[in-house]
Amino acid sequence: MIVAGNWKMQKTCGEARSWVEDLLAASGPISAKVRLRVYPSFVALETVARSANGSRLEVGAQNLHPERSGAFTGEVSAPMILDAGVERVLIGHSERRHLFGEDDAFLAKKVRAALDSGLLPLFCIGEDLAEREAGRTNEVLTRQIERGLGGLTPVDAARLEVAYEPVWAIGTGKVASTEQVAEAHAEIRETLGRLWGAPGRAVPLLYGGSVKASNAGEILVLPAVDGVLVGGASLDVPGFLAIAEQAEKCA
Ligand code: PEP
Repeated sequence: MIVAGNWKMQKTCGEARSWVEDLLAASGPISAKVRLRVYPSFVALETVARSANGSRLEVGAQNLHPERSGAFTGEVSAPMILDAGVERVLIGHSERRHLFGEDDAFLAKKVRAALDSGLLPLFCIGEDLAEREAGRTNEVLTRQIERGLGGLTPVDAARLEVAYEPVWAIGTGKVASTEQVAEAHAEIRETLGRLWGAPGRAVPLLYGGSVKASNAGEILVLPAVDGVLVGGASLDVPGFLAIAEQAEKCA
């Protein structure tokens, strides 16, 4: 059971360090069945990795550029992330897709670059409101998987995680119903299984979209859900740990 926080463009290095210290001091009652993880901004990445070093807290970057180095002002590469002591990366978050225009082909390059460098990607997919209302959810999810991940092998799949994050549920307070989550996760698992067989069906599937302590339990208890990706409610330690407590009950 994975409980992962995505801090987006929030927290200075000092705030990030305090969060890690407070979390590690208070996470004792959460058993090792629940994996705790955070994706800080690039600036706070090394600080968080150092503070979490040797602890239970897993750390990931929120993005990467597919090239290893070069004239890409403002970008960060896989070797830089690894050098900061971090072994995970988010790829394809809806804010990257929609606010920064990252398309399926570019995201596929990022996934390949991450895996080739030894980073473990959490690949995010999800439909927007118009697509859901038009009954196109399954088609969109399948397209995002096939175009973003279609070039991978079963060996790659063993190092992959996928997050289902309906765009209309991210940061809006609207949570997908348990039926919607179950249906989408079943569709995703079937598509991953079609691509890679057993390793595809074993890819951990996280749900994300306005998860908080009050709704985490009903989502995490679904058999098709292996964890949650949490934005706003991950920013304060008590809120994050309250979600981890729900995960503990479902683990
Ligand atoms: C996210 O950032 O991936 C997310 C799901 O945000 P929120 O929990 O705030 O909706």
